[in-house]
Amino acid sequence: MTTKTYSIFGAGAAGLYTAWRLLGGETRSEAGRKKQLARGDVLELFDWGNYDFTGENPELREPGARVCTWHYKDDPENAYLEVGGMRYSRWDSHAPDANGGTAPGHRLVTTVISKLGLDPYVVPFNESGNPLFYMRSKNFYLNNISSQNPAPYRADHYGAGAPPDNAFGVLQNLAPKTENTSFTRTEWNEFYQHGRIEAELPASSVFQKGDHLKDIGYWNLMYDQLGSEGYNYAADGNGYSSNVINWNAAVAFQSNNEFTPGTNYSTITTGYSGMFAALYKAVVALAKKKGVHFKFTPNTRLQSIYVLDGVIHYRLATRERPWHVSEAGTTQAAWLAMPRHALELVAQGSRYSAPGEVLDVLNAQRVRLYLEAAIMQPSYKVGMFFHEPWWLDAATPYPAQLTGYVVTEKVIEALAQEGFSKALCKALAAPSILGVAFASAESLVGEVEKQTEARLSVKQEQQLLGAAQRDTIGPSITDTPIRMAVYFGDNARSHKPGEKPVYGILASYDDETFVSFWQELEIGPNRERHRPRSEDVQTLDGPRKVPAAMVKMLRRQLAELHFGPNSDYSSVPEPVEARYMDWSLPPFNAGYHAWGAHYDIADVQQKIRKPSQLVEGAEADIFIVGEAYSNDQAWVEGAYCTAESVLNDFFDVVPLIDNTHYPFICR
Ligand SMILES: Cc1cc2nc3c(=O)[nH]c(=O)nc-3n(C[C@H](O)[C@H](O)[C@H](O)COP(=O)(O)OP(=O)(O)OC[C@H]3O[C@@H](n4cnc5c(N)ncnc54)[C@H](O)[C@@H]3O)c2cc1C
Repeated sequence: MTTKTYSIFGAGAAGLYTAWRLLGGETRSEAGRKKQLARGDVLELFDWGNYDFTGENPELREPGARVCTWHYKDDPENAYLEVGGMRYSRWDSHAPDANGGTAPGHRLVTTVISKLGLDPYVVPFNESGNPLFYMRSKNFYLNNISSQNPAPYRADHYGAGAPPDNAFGVLQNLAPKTENTSFTRTEWNEFYQHGRIEAELPASSVFQKGDHLKDIGYWNLMYDQLGSEGYNYAADGNGYSSNVINWNAAVAFQSNNEFTPGTNYSTITTGYSGMFAALYKAVVALAKKKGVHFKFTPNTRLQSIYVLDGVIHYRLATRERPWHVSEAGTTQAAWLAMPRHALELVAQGSRYSAPGEVLDVLNAQRVRLYLEAAIMQPSYKVGMFFHEPWWLDAATPYPAQLTGYVVTEKVIEALAQEGFSKALCKALAAPSILGVAFASAESLVGEVEKQTEARLSVKQEQQLLGAAQRDTIGPSITDTPIRMAVYFGDNARSHKPGEKPVYGILASYDDETFVSFWQELEIGPNRERHRPRSEDVQTLDGPRKVPAAMVKMLRRQLAELHFGPNSDYSSVPEPVEARYMDWSLPPFNAGYHAWGAHYDIADVQQKIRKPSQLVEGAEADIFIVGEAYSNDQAWVEGAYCTAESVLNDFFDVVPLIDNTHYPFICR
């Protein structure tokens, strides 16, 4: 019997997940069994970068590709910040209708975390219900915004008297059914393909009832519906510029639902990179158990790929000489587990180095059309550690409001067990209380007493506040180039005796045009650029030290956010360590991706994962997996879902979870 070789290029979320499932997945069919890796077969994994999967090489950055945990002084015992992806939406797999279409959460990420034994490390990573804003030189909190005290924007229809995210709801009113919380993932998929404007719009509107939302740019639609000021208020105030670019309006309706203040997320205390270290370890163990030769080759990129006489040929290049072929090989199946820019570099290599009459699948015209469907979104993070959490200090005029109170079903259950009466529990379930983010103890207690028309006892008050209290990570939001500040604080695993704790924040957390503001400061005054940006793989090296001029600029913008307009930079202390991560650099050239307008994203997702489907008469086991062409862009969940869908549909691997109402990709 001949042995098989399978090759995965890219050891980020999608590549590692593919390896894990190829080795551990089950199949029910004979065809699937033939495709499964067995004793003596080879599974090779290549990556352009080199990550510290085992924890034994502290000189390397932590694993996860576009996820990258950074510990203070690179010591895993110290406090950490996430300079890439940082959180997930936990799926309650034990809820009564957990597998139904409306149960929220990232089902594959939650399952992977569980199966890797990481549940004990899961902690909330909640957003504040009352974030601080600094926009147009005015400092204010979300709860201050009202029609009497509007945000400093001249938005139409009194828009500035409401929170900035209200704009997303105004647009969703154009297709009211999408606002219903019972709108399922399957219904959203249908909407991405066929959703239309359902509301009657005045003749003055550019877009009209019946127009397909997938063929409308979201920025165009926002401008049309909200006007210039309404658009600017939403764009500035939601923090992520990437949410309001001219992307596919149908998808934007769904995605922008998620980023509203008060949303619940989770993370793991190992740092998010911990999931990828554990995944790698599981791959090594599974390969050993199965007798499969698993070979990981870091610092090696796929330079080109093509099919000759039905055989997949690939060529490699080293990290030192990324554009020159170093060696060649063949494989029975290849996974390109990388985002759009990295794929385009492979396509360039293939175009110029493939010999004669071959199937050069990445350069086929329909493949290129579909590769362009993912808009690249540059993003940028700066992490800083301080000796004091000065953003919470009583002397700071505009402190971050990180403690809030939310009454959930679980809180009510817990209070019932602690002796709260049925009437009191019923009052807590009122729409004005349940799920509402209260910024202060007084406001929650006040609302409960209004509902019950009675005073709570001191004990009841303590019980209620104890059960409903929720620590959050912010963010604070500004229209200055830092855009968002996210407060991690002191999350060290342990403290060495006598050592002072450090407190971390992310600021800047920005994307799109704001990225270039910081890029020039990376070099600083009186210095010229010496390295082409196209060869600066900083993201593979890990976060880089912030130069002094940039630290000063960061302090100045943080001072304005927390101390008021024109505050001197010295109001904010000097950080003890600061590093930046520029996700606009290769090989990613994007922190995340968004679907372009004028595409049927269901067709793109189905075809691009096996691009030979787009070439007439062609058949090649070359697969594209990852976040970029997924139904959950900007999330690790998307990377896992595309990888799972390829294994289910082309390798007959049984789905990891019940996916009856959770289609992994849009169909
Ligand atoms: C700032 C930021 C914030 C984010 N926030 C979150 C969040 O909170 N939660 C969340 O779930 N997600 C978040 N994301 C998104 C998440 O990080 C990504 O969706 C996910 O990590 C993508 O995984 P992937 O496998 O698709 O691709 P990648 O992580 O991009 O992995 C691709 C791998 O391929 C390698 N590669 C590239 N070219 C080649 C080649 N030619 N040959 C071999 N190897 C190659 C790369 O080195 C890399 O290791 C965030 C991302 C960023 C940047």
